[in-house]
Amino acid sequence: MQTPEELEAALALKSIARNISLKSSLQQMPKVYSALWPAARRFVTGETRQDAIDTARTLAAQGYSTSLECIGENTATEQACQDAMSEFLALSQAIETASLAGSATLSLDLSHIGLSVSRELALENLQRLAQDTRARGISMMLGMEESEKIPAILEVYTQVAEQHQHMGITLQAHLYRTPDDLAMLLRLPGKIRLVKGAFQEPAERAMQRGEELNLRFLALAQKLVEAQHSLWLATHDQQLLQECERRGILSSPHTEVEMLYGVRSDLLKQTKQAGQQTRLYLPYGLEWYLYLCHRLAEYPPNIYRALADCVQPSRTEQIVNDYL
Ligand code: FAD
Repeated sequence: MQTPEELEAALALKSIARNISLKSSLQQMPKVYSALWPAARRFVTGETRQDAIDTARTLAAQGYSTSLECIGENTATEQACQDAMSEFLALSQAIETASLAGSATLSLDLSHIGLSVSRELALENLQRLAQDTRARGISMMLGMEESEKIPAILEVYTQVAEQHQHMGITLQAHLYRTPDDLAMLLRLPGKIRLVKGAFQEPAERAMQRGEELNLRFLALAQKLVEAQHSLWLATHDQQLLQECERRGILSSPHTEVEMLYGVRSDLLKQTKQAGQQTRLYLPYGLEWYLYLCHRLAEYPPNIYRALADCVQPSRTEQIVNDYL
């Protein structure tokens, strides 16, 4: 449970993260940007595709699966969406070339490749990526974004997922609408990644962190297990994972545990050593500012750690070693 002060800091960080003008001014201040980089590097594999591939290869050798994503969202122009598509197509090829198709999933947000321009562009681009990854034997996972975008994301996803069984989608347990979305998605074969939810949402749409949310998370996970549906439990909440174990959710052959790179490496390592299928989400790219704000907001003690990382950059040079 967060203290009122931590909650306040989290809300401030979430609104800073969404402040587009602040983001672009920051990008125009190379000194500030590079001073913050050691803090981001705790959570981001690097600025290039090759950084993510190298990390995935190291982790695959230890028995972890991975989800690779070039960070980005809310791409505003058609040209920038095509640039993002070129990057994802190159990532798909790089995964195949590195012989990681069996263990590495390509993960992305729909607003990174077109949803902020038009639904048609998002559909066209997602279909193109789905065809490319399917030909290479690589699975895909769609992230879930703010609640206003969900109807469009689900519409595009269902159209593509009906033809492409290798595509899955993320659901946010904190939204009141999610049980209905899950009932609809269970008709499709695509795997479901279950998260608590990262975005600040109005009270009428979402519940806060706490017991009610944990019970909702468990109920959704249980529904997926009963349906023998593929489930990626994406959480770092140790008590919640223990409760999943007690309820038989972890022992389902369709369940994997997925965590974010740089968060609770001790717990993921321990989970793998206990024989559970484990997966690490590996982001990379230049747009790490928003991603860093989210990681600080969801766990405000990270702010102190980030300060220490900026002062002593060597602390975050080899985060991957924490998993070995
Ligand atoms: P919390 O209740 O937030 O945290 C439980 C405990 O975990 C904390 O007490 C702390 O010990 C630890 N912890 C949590 N976060 C951190 C951190 N940043 N640093 C250090 N310790 C931490 N959200 C979306 O809205 N859409 C998505 O598409 C999406 N995709 C995700 C994919 C993956 C693989 C994961 C793991 C998360 C994703 N999220 C997504 C984020 C998610 O919604 C949560 O915001 C995030 O996982 C933190 O919630 P939690 O379940 O760990 O529980």
